[in-house]
Amino acid sequence: MNFELTDQQHAIVEAVRSVCAPFDMHYWDERDRTATFPHDFHRALCEGGWLGVAMPETLGGAGLGILEAALVMQTIAESGAGMSGASAVHMNVFGLNPVVVFGSPQQQTRFLPPLIAGQEKACFAVTEPDAGLDTTRLKTVAHKVEGGYSVSGRKIWISTAQVADRMLLLARTRSLAEVGKPTEGLTLFYTALDRERVEVREIDKMGRAAVDSNMLFIDELFIPEEDRIGEEGRGFEYILHGLNPERILIAAEAVGLGRAALSIATEYAKERVVFGRPIGTNQGVQHPLALAWMQLEAANLMVMKAAARYDAGLPCGAEANAAKYLAAEAGHNACQTAVLTLGGMGYSREYRVERLLRESYIPRIAPVSPQLILCFIAERVLGLPKSY
Ligand SMILES: Cc1cc2nc3c(=O)[nH]c(=O)nc-3n(C[C@H](O)[C@H](O)[C@H](O)COP(=O)(O)OP(=O)(O)OC[C@H]3O[C@@H](n4cnc5c(N)ncnc54)[C@H](O)[C@@H]3O)c2cc1C
Repeated sequence: MNFELTDQQHAIVEAVRSVCAPFDMHYWDERDRTATFPHDFHRALCEGGWLGVAMPETLGGAGLGILEAALVMQTIAESGAGMSGASAVHMNVFGLNPVVVFGSPQQQTRFLPPLIAGQEKACFAVTEPDAGLDTTRLKTVAHKVEGGYSVSGRKIWISTAQVADRMLLLARTRSLAEVGKPTEGLTLFYTALDRERVEVREIDKMGRAAVDSNMLFIDELFIPEEDRIGEEGRGFEYILHGLNPERILIAAEAVGLGRAALSIATEYAKERVVFGRPIGTNQGVQHPLALAWMQLEAANLMVMKAAARYDAGLPCGAEANAAKYLAAEAGHNACQTAVLTLGGMGYSREYRVERLLRESYIPRIAPVSPQLILCFIAERVLGLPKSY
């Protein structure tokens, strides 16, 4: 057992740190305040080759593992970019895993290089207003027509749809009544986001204003046959395949976010003098910060274990879910502790911890809620009855 990063992994962290350095806290505050997508940050990461970190080398990627991708995402969040920076590239870094694994060679050649080169952006359109976490109940339908499908329905919370060129879309090709199991009859597409047929309406939300989240109203969108990923009716299975690495990446981001907040709070505690001494002299201030550090580092061990198992081809469902739960809670606690450590200044925008706290809810809620992770661990690890 070795807990040290390799020289190459250290080099990745250092290189990503230097790409992020010019995009300081002022940059992210401005993006948050004006709700503008960080296109120049996206471009800088692309020019560094980081968007293709986990994509096949044959298509212009670096061909590295999920552990390296997690380090990239964590370093981005930890730089102070938080979820604003991480979510701006998250989908490009790993979201197209179903295309990498289940797409035909022609589809991979057509879809992946423009993404790696930063010429196209993608969004992930799964969640629906009436289905929630029960994905198999989604109502978006894809009817067979000549040469492809006609798709209609609604999606909610779809991040980056304002700037995306294409979307990975899950829709029903056979109704629930026609299939043996609810997981059957769902089909996956990677297709152009045609704004003539898809109305994209932004949701006004609590944080991460730099990266939009949207309602999609899809009205008879034509999707050509060649944009269907894999076999008809097996889309749910394809999406499931990418769930563990997706949880690992978001967990790594949550740890990075928490570390950014903890670092601001620790510096403040060393410098802010009240009652004639730095507030960090008081155990009442030190202990929550020390606890936040321990929680973040413990969660990170689970993130790295889950990533290492995934890269080794071992089962990692329990570890990936546990990592996502532990990291999201630890990240949130670190942000909350940071706000309280700064007292009144924690509530001002000047010290940025309030932005990080607002963003820390995202890895808790998405892509799966803490309750559902506990249900999963209870059932799959402890062998208790399925409760959902
Ligand atoms: C900022 C943001 C960005 C997002 N980006 C995307 C995106 O790009 N693409 C996309 O497809 N989706 C995206 N999502 C959606 C996200 O994945 C969902 O919000 C999340 O999966 C929760 O689903 P829901 O909101 O429908 O909650 P619901 O399913 O309505 O659940 C509400 C609450 O009830 C609880 N609950 C429900 N059933 C049970 C049960 N049986 N036992 C215990 N508790 C239960 C849940 O845990 C949750 O706390 C995003 C969400 C946010 C907030």
